[in-house]
Amino acid sequence: MKLDYHLHTSLCGHATGDMRDYVEAALDKGLDQVGFSDHLPLLHMVDPSLTMSIEQLPGYVEAVLALREEFTGIEVKLGIEADYVPEAVAELGPLLSSYDFDYVYGAVHFLGDWVFDDPESASEYDKHDIDELYRQYFSVLGDAVQTGLFDILAHPDLIKKFDKRPGKDPGPLYESLLERVREKDMCYEINTAGLRWPVAEMYPERKFVEIAHSMGIPVTLGSDAHSPENVARDFEEAARLLISVGYREIATFEGRERVPAPLDW
Ligand code: ZN
Ligand code: FE
Ligand code: FE
Ligand code: ZN
Repeated sequence: MKLDYHLHTSLCGHATGDMRDYVEAALDKGLDQVGFSDHLPLLHMVDPSLTMSIEQLPGYVEAVLALREEFTGIEVKLGIEADYVPEAVAELGPLLSSYDFDYVYGAVHFLGDWVFDDPESASEYDKHDIDELYRQYFSVLGDAVQTGLFDILAHPDLIKKFDKRPGKDPGPLYESLLERVREKDMCYEINTAGLRWPVAEMYPERKFVEIAHSMGIPVTLGSDAHSPENVARDFEEAARLLISVGYREIATFEGRERVPAPLDW
């Protein structure tokens, strides 16, 4: 099974290309399934350069479902990437259950008010102790998992994006996060977008993948494409990583039910 579950659309204000071009790119790459997971509107603020507006959400869902009807050679999935923001979590559940998503990504891009993965505000890292930031980030990510609102953990070690590495071994942070992922019966993604940023490696790093595999936690794949040419980019390398760690299956989703499929890249 070849798939890419993490595609954005121009609705988010920082991606380019027509949605149809993303699906065409997926077909060209020989994928069996392709899933859109654009940023869910933020519930604690409005920023058209980060997410679509709440008024645009029904149109997004309709556009994905129309592509599902239009394309017969590939299965088009309806996903979403939802931010975990502690003060807005009560509104998140009802919003997510008002649409027939195939899967919901849970993502942490905010530490307080700081969008730590935004290149514009990357200088903020210099004001922090990196080990403390890792501790904080993984703690917030653990809280996100604990809500039970999500199916897939997005880009698990995103905090490393600008090549900010911890001095301490992050293994214990990974382990306690993954304990919660297992309790909530979630999976995580290998996200190849990290290869295109200063850190120049996939999210999450190999050590995380090894621990997750040893704990029996399923995995899926996402490119985090914000333009059609990045659909399924570097997926051969991602599949090689998974196989070398021992994974033989990839998680697929339908109506928020996880279905394992052979990893055959
Ligand atoms: Zn984005
Ligand atoms: Fe994200
Ligand atoms: Fe994304
Ligand atoms: Zn993302």
